[in-house]
Amino acid sequence: MLASTTTRVKRLTSFSELRAWRSSLKDGDSVGFVPTMGALHAGHSSLFKKARRENEQLLASIFVNPLQFNEGKDFERYPKTLEEDCQILEAQGVNAVYLPDREDLYPEGYDTTVTAGRVGDVFEGYSRPGHFEGMLSVVLKLFLRTKPHRAYFGEKDAQQLFLVKKMTKDLDLPLTIVPCETVRCEDGLALSTRNSFLGTEERERSLCIIHALRAADALYASGVRVPAELESVMRQCLQEEAGFFVEYAAVVDDKDFQSAQENHLGSWRAILAVRVGATRLIDNLLLSESA
Ligand code: AMP
Repeated sequence: MLASTTTRVKRLTSFSELRAWRSSLKDGDSVGFVPTMGALHAGHSSLFKKARRENEQLLASIFVNPLQFNEGKDFERYPKTLEEDCQILEAQGVNAVYLPDREDLYPEGYDTTVTAGRVGDVFEGYSRPGHFEGMLSVVLKLFLRTKPHRAYFGEKDAQQLFLVKKMTKDLDLPLTIVPCETVRCEDGLALSTRNSFLGTEERERSLCIIHALRAADALYASGVRVPAELESVMRQCLQEEAGFFVEYAAVVDDKDFQSAQENHLGSWRAILAVRVGATRLIDNLLLSESA
């Protein structure tokens, strides 16, 4: 069932090429889809590995979606490393990669977007107005074009994953969203394309992110169910110890991504976003019931 790791990845640069590839597949073949913005790293590879195991055909996409960037500078400086990316795709046995350009996805006159609903306006959505509307719009369009059986998303972007699952359920989209665990460096920093922007000293200080999440986790495991206490311990690590600007440090109920309620039972997730110099980093951790 698995493709050979030496297979060359087929580059599909337009919707018509994608359509031709999609209709060339055997009827019974399942298609796994991994949408990305490129600058691939081991976090992305973990998604490819999982998708490779679960599907006959594995399709990736690389598109830096202008609709989901609320800061022009962030969009412009997003790294573009297509040749290195293709080597990774080939090593992971990806069969084809869809590489649309802006015109291909948003031809002149394109004017329709998906509203993300309540959860689209809080945390990441509050810090980055329009981000989730842009993200869901491109993801829906990619789903409709690629027609996958399963699509793979990282828990690293927990709110994104939540909203993609919600859209899939609300709009009855005929596919399964598969969550994939966050891949971290040995020292605990979550892999992210934006880590490459960090200077040496910033990279060292960024360890406070995992320290903050683990401190919240330890408190939760010891029985604390007061969100304000968990948030305060995270802020202590991020702000007072590392001097980061904290955009948010919060605890949400994993079921509905609403702020966790004191002493309510449920699955709690600590989430945070900080600014490290000019770089914005996000991370999260599902809190464990016991140590
Ligand atoms: P991006 O290219 O940043 O849009 O990410 C593409 C996909 O890879 C998204 O579903 C991300 O959540 C996922 N991803 C990014 N970093 C990681 C990581 N460190 N671990 C697991 N998944 C990740």
